[in-house]
Amino acid sequence: MICLVLSGKTLSENLGYIKQYRSYIQIVELRADFLDDSEFTLINRFPEMTDLPVILTIRKREDGGHWRGREKARIEAFQLAASSRLRRFSFMDLEEALPSFEWEKDWIREGGRIIRSFHDFNGVPMDLAARLENLPRVSGEIPKAAVTPLNTADLLNLLRTTEAYSREDKIVLGMGDIGIPTRILSRRLGSFLTFCSPSGISAAPGHINPESMEKIYHFSKIDNKTRLFGIIGNPVMHTLSPGLHNRGYELLKTNCLYIPFQIDDPDEFLKWAVDFGFEGFSVTVPHKERVIPLLRMMDESVKAVLSCNTLIRSGSGWSGHNTDIAGFLSPLQALWGVDGFKGRSAIVLGAGGAARAVVHALASRGVAVTIYNRTSKKAEDLAALFNCRWGRLDDGRGMEYADLIVQTTILGMFPVDNEEPVSDYIFSSGQIAYDLIYTPEETLFLSRARLSGCRIINGMEMLVQQGKAQFLLFTGRDYPEDTVSS
Ligand code: NAP
Repeated sequence: MICLVLSGKTLSENLGYIKQYRSYIQIVELRADFLDDSEFTLINRFPEMTDLPVILTIRKREDGGHWRGREKARIEAFQLAASSRLRRFSFMDLEEALPSFEWEKDWIREGGRIIRSFHDFNGVPMDLAARLENLPRVSGEIPKAAVTPLNTADLLNLLRTTEAYSREDKIVLGMGDIGIPTRILSRRLGSFLTFCSPSGISAAPGHINPESMEKIYHFSKIDNKTRLFGIIGNPVMHTLSPGLHNRGYELLKTNCLYIPFQIDDPDEFLKWAVDFGFEGFSVTVPHKERVIPLLRMMDESVKAVLSCNTLIRSGSGWSGHNTDIAGFLSPLQALWGVDGFKGRSAIVLGAGGAARAVVHALASRGVAVTIYNRTSKKAEDLAALFNCRWGRLDDGRGMEYADLIVQTTILGMFPVDNEEPVSDYIFSSGQIAYDLIYTPEETLFLSRARLSGCRIINGMEMLVQQGKAQFLLFTGRDYPEDTVSS
């Protein structure tokens, strides 16, 4: 189930959120600790204002909530809710530290259920399984753990424990960006529900809005037969790839799911992913080189550029591919034609993983390439690999004319979105300026080039085309043509 967390200041504001997301949600949580004082006195009227089951939660500050009143008043509010003559709350969330109250027995006998929760905002306890096991005070209580994975080891501990903990009803989730896959995969992990917040007012770190959960991740369709794919990177949550891949699966009516994983240790993560049944991953910064020693096999493109952006499950390991090359070339081929590269000149700014794919793509088609990089040794090494020229990045004015200038550094995207690598380079109209960055749509580099009369290309087309090539590798099927990528 998707549970919409209601953290409005008034009941009517919360009813507005229910109306907005009604078609995506099956249950709501009234976070009464967010309500204005005058509204708090009306909470027992709330369940009859909606046709959905409602969880009552009154969270204290130390547990991540907003409750400012005394503890006695909080407990009395739960007791009053339990004895209300009105249509009742279906669930109450009581924290681990609270005892089992006398009134709970009547409440449970009449069909109510207790969610017994604990929260850890600083990590994932090593003894998570035991903590979960010891949570319920009386039989029938649903154990809930909301913990904060800080690294890949934490995430794997959380995923493995959740999977192995086979209680009929449980809610186990990871907060923050690293925990997002546990929210998307909650059906596969056996969690009773996943929490979502209205767009823009996340009640807890890592909440996705219900519309995205359903429209991007097709939450209600995930089952044990769903084929699993994803993207690994760090950071990765800004990526548009889940929108592209999941939309393609939807159009082809194929039961597949693509999830973003913010990972710092690809080695350990990929071992878990084999066990869990993942079949393929996109790989992004900073792991494109780090995954190469982990590969069982690699195709010619990976061997040529020593950068791998696609992993395909091969037995109990992974084979590596690179679709950045085809993706990068796609918009240039549209301009120059497949045979129009030979004899042209290009400047490539940067000498990282993406630059290697770019230099290989251009040099192998007969373009004369000059590479400029902050660390000049890396420019020199890359130039030697592909028989190109190289120079230092610090002198944009000294760079000669080239038909094409490709920006492959990270300068121009958040958090360095007010920078560009060659602020003193003088563009000439007639040049093509190509920035691999796609967010923002127009970097400082591209904006200056456009004002100088250059034709500009951002990284979106490359992203889409390399993603479509991955889609083919993942599913064996061409990306459906009539799609709007999101
Ligand atoms: P990478 O391997 O980490 O390389 C980063 C490059 O940026 C290196 O050349 C590095 O220079 C340079 N750099 C970093 N900080 C710099 C600074 N402060 N000043 C000057 N140069 C700096 O990353 P990558 O995989 O090549 O990716 C690079 C960019 O391409 C990213 O923005 C990525 O999003 C984009 N990309 C887009 C697509 C797409 O589909 N559109 C695909 C792949 C990549 P040093 O060698 O001196 O550190």
